[in-house]
This record gives sequence, C-alpha cells and structure tokens, in this order.
Amino acid sequence: MEIEAIEPHGLCSGVNAAIAKALVLRNVYCLHELVHNEIIIDELKRLGYRFVKRIEDVPDGAAVVFSAHGVAPSVREYAVAHGMKVVDTTCPFVARAHKAVRNFVKRGLKVAVIGDTNHVEVIGILGEVPNGQLLDVNKGKRQGGVRARVGVVAQTTMNADDVTRQVEKLRKVYDVESVAEVCFATKERQDAVREFCVRAADGVRFAVLVLGSQKSANSRRLAEVARQCGANVFMVGTMDELRAIDFSGVERMGVTSGASTPERFFNEAMRFLRNAPNHVAIIMDGSGRWAMQRGKRRGEGYEAGARMLVDVLKWCGARGIRYLTVYAFSTESWKRPRAEVDGLMKLFARMLKASEREFFKNRVRFRMIGRRGDLSPKLLGLVEGLEARTAHFERELIVAISYGGRAEIVDAVNVAIEKGERLTEETLRSYLYAPDVPDPDLVIRTGGESSTSNFLLWESAHSEYYFTDTLWPDFSEKELDSALESYAMRHGAF
Ligand code: SF4
Repeated sequence: MEIEAIEPHGLCSGVNAAIAKALVLRNVYCLHELVHNEIIIDELKRLGYRFVKRIEDVPDGAAVVFSAHGVAPSVREYAVAHGMKVVDTTCPFVARAHKAVRNFVKRGLKVAVIGDTNHVEVIGILGEVPNGQLLDVNKGKRQGGVRARVGVVAQTTMNADDVTRQVEKLRKVYDVESVAEVCFATKERQDAVREFCVRAADGVRFAVLVLGSQKSANSRRLAEVARQCGANVFMVGTMDELRAIDFSGVERMGVTSGASTPERFFNEAMRFLRNAPNHVAIIMDGSGRWAMQRGKRRGEGYEAGARMLVDVLKWCGARGIRYLTVYAFSTESWKRPRAEVDGLMKLFARMLKASEREFFKNRVRFRMIGRRGDLSPKLLGLVEGLEARTAHFERELIVAISYGGRAEIVDAVNVAIEKGERLTEETLRSYLYAPDVPDPDLVIRTGGESSTSNFLLWESAHSEYYFTDTLWPDFSEKELDSALESYAMRHGAF
C-alpha cells in the first residue's frame, strides 16, 4: 500500500496557541474540553486540570480556562461576577464570528448561525443573539414586499462546501449579509483532502485515514469530505484503534489529521504504517567535493548542502520521523582553513535566521548538540534564542555543531567527576548533550565514506547504518526512501 501524508494536516494555529497557554498552568478549571482530543485532555489532567461543563461548577475566585471554541457573553459575566481568574484561549477566528454577530444584532438584523447546535462553539455564538433576533427561516421572509436582510455566520469547522450551499439557499429567500466563514485552517485541510482524492482516484482503490477524535468536529468533517470525494474512509483516535484496522485491498492511502490532533499521534501512526524509524541521523558528507566537481567554491557546496537539509527535514516530517539529527561541524573541523571555518559559521547564522519561519510553520523544535563554548557569543545567542522559541514543538531537528562523539562522552564523564558520581550506563547517558532524545534508529552517511566519523558514538550502539556514494547536495527523496526501505527490511532482525 502506498502511503501519503496529506499536507497540511494537524494542529491549527488556534489550537496550538490554546495548548501553549494551557501547558503553563496547573490545577485550574477548564470550561469544556480545551480541544476535542483525548491525548491532549489526558495530558492536561495530569497537570491537574479539572474539566467542567457549566461555569456554575467552578468555585468562586478559582482560575478558569475558556477553550478555543469560545463562550457566550453570559458565561464571561458570570465568571467576572464570581471573582474568577479567566484565562481565555478563544481562537481569533471564533472571536471574529462573535464580533460579527454582535454587529448584526446592533444593527437590528436577524441572525442565522450555520452549524451544529450542540457544539460548544455554536452555543457560545448563539449566546450573542438576544431572544427574538434569531432567524426563523419559516417566518418574516418579506418586509413590506422587500426581502428581509439577515446576517449569517458559520461554525468555523463546518464542511466549506456545505456552508456555501446553505448560504446560497438562504440567498434565494433573504437579502443575506454573510460572514459565513469556515476558518482558514479547516478549509486548507479540507482542500488538501479533496486534492489528494482527485489525484488518487486514478483507477486504484484508494482510502483516506483521518487521525482524530470522533468528538472533534473538524476531524469528522475531513472524513465527510473524503467520503464525498469517493474515498474509502477510516477514522481513528488512538494507536490501538489504528492497529485493529484491516487495510487489505487499499492500494493508495492518504493520511490526514484534525486541527486538534497532536503531531505526536500523526508521527507515530505514520511510522507504524511505514515501519519507519523514529530517529534518523545523517552524516552530511560530500558538499565540498560536490562544489569542486562543478568548479565552484567549497562555500557554494555548503550552501547547496544547507538547502538540501531544508528539503530532507520536510521529507522526514511527511514520513512521520520525529527526530532528525545532522552532523554539521565536528570538533576536528576547527582545524580547517580559517576562511572556510568563518564562512561556515556565517552560513549557520544565516540559516538559523532564515529557517525560523519554516520551523514555526512545520512545528519543528531546533536544538544544538556539541561544545557550545566553542561558538562565538553572537552565534550562540542565535542558537539559544531559536531553541527557546521552538522548545514547545514536537518534531525535532538536532544539529551537531562543534561536535565529536568522543568529546561528548568525555564531557559527560567530566560532569560526573565534578559531582563525585560513580557512572553507570544510565547516569552517563543523563549527562550527554541531549539525554531525552532517543537513540537514532538509522544513521545515513552520504559521500561514499563508510566510517562513523566520531558521530553519536554512544547513541548509535544499536543503530542501523546506511551508506551511499551520493554527495550530500545531490541527496534526494528517492534516496531517503531507499534508506528507509532498507531500514524497514532489516528492522527487527537485530
Ligand atoms: S479549527 Fe479554526 S477556528 Fe478552530 S481553533 Fe483551529 S484555527 Fe481556530
């Protein structure tokens, strides 16, 4: 079965922001589920979150979180009147729908809300509409022979095509003023599913797997869109549910996830489906030779290599690989000609600045391993700033700079000596540069050499190795897939 990650998928900006706000809080009340996903809810419960369905269930004066779906004005008023400390994570798209309704109401228009009347978001929006101003589609179509003017808003996570149809229907009867907007994230994800289905329906039996909770409206809509496009649809909320599915007969499958599904679940599912590694490490060798073969400066080879890294990071993400560690600059590399070293340091600085937007877009955490004290204060500042700003993302790019496998072990041992500790494998591991990162499953070396070059000596004790003659700037998605296939074939035989 051919597996494809449908892009974009997963956590939207609204949910991401809500989670980032929520994760720093402890022992608070949360009105409704912060987002409709059991994995995230379980994590918040571990932080002491208490989820309640009514604001009246929150004690006076307590801290309460309003979810990304927003709340009715009466709920806010109640919270203020009872001295609660409110942490509001309402998504800006939902807040915009509230504002539009308030505007309609102020101008005396009747209001129609397209959405699921039981959904928390719709309940909150309806709370903005006073009695008698909600549109009854069976009454008041004409005011003195003129079509009545009405305001229309939609739940942000509706099926965009359904919303368009409903608005058109209303237009036949009313003079519609519409802000019937499905949010950008929802629309983008639905469009990507449609586009996959059009491409996949090429005489093959194709399917769409939606990763998301049944409680999540936007996940259910993704499944609905795929079904409307003729796909066989599977929807699962946990790895156990995924393991229980029989995919036999499916020739091509697109995988997507709802806007409240954590990337961790997506990655784990992709790895399971593809038998892919969790952590890939790469010795990016051959950029200098690549440049020389083309009569270019070595620096141009390193720049081409840096561009390749951006692509490889993207390809790894699409394959569910959570950790990518790359060997960029070894402790021995300081012995290279001064001009070359300076050029490389400048290139790192440029890449760090240029990549920040991509890291945020693809939710990638950046980390450095190596001897930080060897870097200039300016470069170290850039590195540590980016590390801090991306620390909450789940996927990781770990760049080894001024790194040596032996140096890492020596540094770890020295920390233990300073602490007067007798080392075991576990304690030594805890003093490595990134002790929480699992060992690499697969180490790829490009450039035709077949040594380990002092890279991740401790961590790669049980890793699979894949060597290729391809020079790093010429590495390709196909070559990555060959390495992953080779891993998949050998994996488990160890
Ligand atoms: S799905 Fe849209 S409206 Fe809902 S939280 Fe995400 S961005 Fe906001």
